[in-house]
Amino acid sequence: MSLNKDEITHYSRHLLLEEVGKSGQEKLKSSSVLIIGGGGLGCPAALYLAAAGVGKLGIIDFDTVDVSNLQRQIAFSYDDVGKPKAEQLKARLQGINPHIQIVTYQDRFGIDNAEMLFNEYDVVVDGCDNFGTRYLSNDTSFFTKTPLIFGAIHRFQGQMSVFNQTQESPCYRCLFPEPPDAGSIPNCAEAGVIGVLPGVVGSIQATEAIKVLLGLGESLSGRFMTYDAMTMRFSEFKLGKNPGCPLCGEKTTIKELKETELLCASQQIQNDDVAPADLAVEMQSSDKIYLIDVREEFEWDICKLQDSNQIPLRMIEDVASVLPKDKDIVIYCHHGIRSRQAIEMLKKHGLKNLRNLTGGISQWAEEVDTDMPQY
Ligand SMILES: [Zn+2]
Repeated sequence: MSLNKDEITHYSRHLLLEEVGKSGQEKLKSSSVLIIGGGGLGCPAALYLAAAGVGKLGIIDFDTVDVSNLQRQIAFSYDDVGKPKAEQLKARLQGINPHIQIVTYQDRFGIDNAEMLFNEYDVVVDGCDNFGTRYLSNDTSFFTKTPLIFGAIHRFQGQMSVFNQTQESPCYRCLFPEPPDAGSIPNCAEAGVIGVLPGVVGSIQATEAIKVLLGLGESLSGRFMTYDAMTMRFSEFKLGKNPGCPLCGEKTTIKELKETELLCASQQIQNDDVAPADLAVEMQSSDKIYLIDVREEFEWDICKLQDSNQIPLRMIEDVASVLPKDKDIVIYCHHGIRSRQAIEMLKKHGLKNLRNLTGGISQWAEEVDTDMPQY
């Protein structure tokens, strides 16, 4: 694919690089990249890949822009809040580069569309935030022989690698054969993330995508890199193909795509859960409700339920013996994960009158007290 006059001007800093040059830029123009998730990682990756002139960019995201996204999802502005991420991102990218094609899929990435999507693109950038999608994209990448640019973020730490670049490349399952237990996975919203972290990781993913497309340098295939923003250190270890890998090893047990439906701990409703609206009604009529907030002091300062007793999770077992046995104890936290842990701890001390507020104070703020500040 040849470049027109405007494109030559747009890409002049690439054309000045001997390693890219006109032929490399033309190769980028005839290349395609799918980005799974238009969030923290997807925004910077997409911005750089669009600016760099990858001819066709696909974005799959079913979500809409939320105010709490703006701390890190840098392609969006306040005007985008409430609107579909895929479409808003497309508009932003088209403004940066009108010479490329952008395809949006306002859909959930799942077993129904995974193979079809991977077959449409040369390289896939995984910008997802959950284990179900991560395993599905890894497996699809292996079966369709499509290189996968992996990135993940948590608090102050990032992880990056390239999987299935060639037949000899390792995959995500070579390192982590099976997904973790669903109950042990905190909700992404529960764990904080420093806003600039996905910018670093997503930009590295874009770099790797361009290098893989152009066959330049050494990619992260066979290497697993971690980034710690707190100590400002990159580290890496060698990741070889694991002969015991259930997907790409010698005795494979995974022969086809499987959906890994992994609910976060906060999404698993249990029978001792009480919904915010139901609790609100009960609180009107009963004086037997005893509320315990197991969050930390800095969180109580942001918002709390009236008449709640503040006992951080780390101290809950110390007070187990003095908790009232004749009251209906309802425990809550931010999203319902720590409160669930508190219930399990207190059960061991013989307490039975325990319930968990579904979705924590966050869901309460959404459904009952909409004036309450959320964090
Ligand atoms: Zn493998």
